[in-house]
Amino acid sequence: GAGRVTVLGLGAMGSAIARTFLDRGHPTTVWNRTAAKAAPLAEAGATAAATAAEAVAAAPLVVVCLLDGAAVEEVLASVGTAIEGKVLVNLTSGSPAQARATERWAAEHGAGYLDGKLMGDPPYIGTDNILIPVSGSGDAWAAHETTLKELGGVAYHGADAGAAAVEFNAQVAMGYEMLIGFLHVLKLVRAEGGDVAAFGERLAGSVAAYPPLLTAMAKAVANGDYPPDLGPLRVQAALMDDLIAHRETAGVESVRMRQVKDLMDRRIADGHGEEGFSGLFELLGKD
Ligand code: NDP
Repeated sequence: GAGRVTVLGLGAMGSAIARTFLDRGHPTTVWNRTAAKAAPLAEAGATAAATAAEAVAAAPLVVVCLLDGAAVEEVLASVGTAIEGKVLVNLTSGSPAQARATERWAAEHGAGYLDGKLMGDPPYIGTDNILIPVSGSGDAWAAHETTLKELGGVAYHGADAGAAAVEFNAQVAMGYEMLIGFLHVLKLVRAEGGDVAAFGERLAGSVAAYPPLLTAMAKAVANGDYPPDLGPLRVQAALMDDLIAHRETAGVESVRMRQVKDLMDRRIADGHGEEGFSGLFELLGKD
């Protein structure tokens, strides 16, 4: 049958995780700092432990989902040696450095470690609508892959415990980079008297062309070879001048497009005017 699991932390996410394990037939032990949050899960068949250490002792697989890294540190300190021989899966948000530090703590206490990041809302736990990159011990992954995949679209990103956090940060940043550009464009449409809602609907259709472009650009970056993706950079730079001028006459903030134009100009000056937009990658380091 399905293996025993323990869930530490019963906030919105932890409760959804514990409920999913219960629904899939895993004998589930739960613990939360504020004990009352365990009651609905106990009613549904979970075992509510009095302490985190007691909960950890109850199963070979221990899933932690707390507010932040500080909470994880505090709870794990109270668990101590009870973690020995277990696999700890930390699904709390945090940095790659925090993930690697928690892995060191686990290793010092004789536990296997996987770090995971939740990309989606609590109601999506247990469905493919939540993506969960995980990374860390290959042995721990092999032992618990099937159980962890019950939580959503779980994918293993390799042995570096920090890799899941890197993936999460990159994916989240992609969203913000794109969405701030989107808001600028809506501002321009509104400034010109356009209907932003209708424009949004048309845009939803045209952005479907981007996934193949993203794939091609990532490949160009991987190869260090930059074919003219949206046309030669020299032609794109001339268009960029028009886009900036339009924004300025419409009274829309244009600082980010000026940065793009500056990168284009530097790249062209370096002799890459016939290459593609993807070549700007070469100018993005801090060194
Ligand atoms: P909640 O605020 O609902 O729950 C937080 C949990 O952390 C509670 O169980 C709380 O216990 C516990 N906690 C906080 N501080 C401590 C502490 N010092 N010691 C012990 N326990 C502590 O948050 P979520 O469940 O929504 O979020 C959990 C994680 O999931 C976060 O890292 C979040 O970034 C991530 N996440 C959440 C998403 C969401 O939409 N909710 C989306 C994607 C990721 P208590 O009940 O006692 O306060």
